[in-house]
Amino acid sequence: MEGKRVNDPFATAKTSNDDNGCSAAKPVCVPGPIIIGSGPSGLAAAACLKEKGVPSLILERENCIASLWQLKTYDRLRLHLPKQFCQLPLLPFPSDFPNYPTKQQFISYMEGYARHFELDPVFNRTVVSAEFDSGCRFWRVRTVGGGQPEAITEYLCLWVIVATGENAEEVLPKIEGMDEFEGSIVHTSGYKTGNCFLGKRVLVVGCGNSGMEVCLDLCTYDAQPSLVVRDSVHVLPQEMLGRSTFGLSMWLLKWLPVRMVDRFLLLMSRMMIGDTSRFGLTRPDIGPIELKNATGKTPVLDIGTLEQIKSGKIKETNFFSEKDGFPRKPFPHGWKGENGLYAVGFTKRGLLGTSMDATRIAQDIEQQWKSRPIGELLHSVEQRYKCVRNPSVHPHRN
Ligand SMILES: Cc1cc2nc3c(=O)[nH]c(=O)nc-3n(C[C@H](O)[C@H](O)[C@H](O)COP(=O)(O)OP(=O)(O)OC[C@H]3O[C@@H](n4cnc5c(N)ncnc54)[C@H](O)[C@@H]3O)c2cc1C
Repeated sequence: MEGKRVNDPFATAKTSNDDNGCSAAKPVCVPGPIIIGSGPSGLAAAACLKEKGVPSLILERENCIASLWQLKTYDRLRLHLPKQFCQLPLLPFPSDFPNYPTKQQFISYMEGYARHFELDPVFNRTVVSAEFDSGCRFWRVRTVGGGQPEAITEYLCLWVIVATGENAEEVLPKIEGMDEFEGSIVHTSGYKTGNCFLGKRVLVVGCGNSGMEVCLDLCTYDAQPSLVVRDSVHVLPQEMLGRSTFGLSMWLLKWLPVRMVDRFLLLMSRMMIGDTSRFGLTRPDIGPIELKNATGKTPVLDIGTLEQIKSGKIKETNFFSEKDGFPRKPFPHGWKGENGLYAVGFTKRGLLGTSMDATRIAQDIEQQWKSRPIGELLHSVEQRYKCVRNPSVHPHRN
């Protein structure tokens, strides 16, 4: 539990009787395991136990099952993987559900699952501590909530199953300037649809499956999204050769080593969606499955966002990589950024690369120089900022 507690904001919540180790009310003795969390994992564990004849008690801090899906996801969400890879043990999805069920369908499946196995979680109970009492060899699990807001209940049990989720806590990083920013700042768990962003410029921070899908949603609501990509990322088509990329990978992995499957996935992706680095989405050095196994980082399954990036509807910020200061787009695409920003000499190709960059930059600027009313622009900025013109640079044209 210590490991979980480090990341748990409730772990520091003290109960009035923490110091002497016993609660005011009588502890509740639970014959079977206590399961913390009534998301898909908690419900699946409870159903499997029930099937073996073992009763359990599920404690849930929210007032519903699958709270992540019911309360913290956007409207257009569908399962990213085909339904056969997302169903819980012992009860498949209804056969009339589509291959990629909608959020509502997934929730109704979860509700049906809980009904089918007669799972009855105790809601509004936040587990604040779980300690193994080596004296009586029982776990002491304390909760707050239920009844009065600060009601404390202590449960005693032999087994504790932690099913509190990988994504149950939103992480909103502190970004410089956030406090002065006058627009709204929303975590994806609070984002429902793009309808309140109509016509607005929106910066989406993070390019995982959620970030990419939120960008797509913003496009459908005529917002103007830009995407910040901190790191390299594997973007793969959602389907290949008429099968889901995930399913195909699982099948290939039965016969082939990970690296070979990765090579196949990257080759197919290249053929289907092209070189993603042209849009600033550079790929990690190791393949998608090897990376997932090593770090847990999930590849992004593209459901149409890439098309919007290609068409320029979604812009990308951060021309230069934070990692090494080089342009994010590799040679030969790294010379041009947004809003008149260019880079020359970062190609890792010596003076030959420099020459190519310089030539392209000059051609690009020449076009703008000739087509835009530079004199007028200069004049208006001089007026606005009361500045004087550098006499060595004249907006004359040859
Ligand atoms: C937007 C999104 C889309 C996803 N799509 C897919 C997909 O298509 N396919 C797939 O395989 N996976 C998907 N996942 C990943 C994963 O399957 C889901 O996150 C899934 O909900 C995880 O289930 P879980 O039960 O482990 O965790 P959660 O669903 O997070 O459930 C944890 C539960 O524990 C409760 N809890 C937490 N702390 C406490 C506490 N201290 N006391 C009491 N209760 C507590 C929470 O309130 C919550 O109800 C997706 C994830 C997200 C965020």
